Amino acid sequence: MEKSDSNKDKPKIIKFKSHKDLPLCAVSLASTRNNKTGTWRTIKPIVLEKKCTSCLLCWKFCPEPCITMENGIPVIDYDYCKGCGICIEVCPSKAIVFAEEER
Ligand code: SF4
Ligand code: SF4
Repeated sequence: MEKSDSNKDKPKIIKFKSHKDLPLCAVSLASTRNNKTGTWRTIKPIVLEKKCTSCLLCWKFCPEPCITMENGIPVIDYDYCKGCGICIEVCPSKAIVFAEEER
């Protein structure tokens, strides 16, 4: 009779002494660009082109990043914008406003 190995199916636990020993990408295994985070959104940022001064702050701080600059105006990729509102907070010209998302 074959001896059963009760530990065979248990997940392997790896212990690290500190966070400094963690391998790169231990927390996030893929960029959020691999997921269409726009499906989470309940509110949608809208750029008011006439107010925009092309300062790039929204582009710089968008965490996805889903803003590209076209002719000095931010263009939002709504497939990936999750509606966090950071672009609205950082815009010094109040050139981005929220609209209710339609589903
Ligand atoms: S709402 Fe958030 S994710 Fe969407 S464009 Fe603004 S900063 Fe980026
Ligand atoms: S932060 Fe505001 S003013 Fe600056 S580029 Fe973005 S929308 Fe334009």
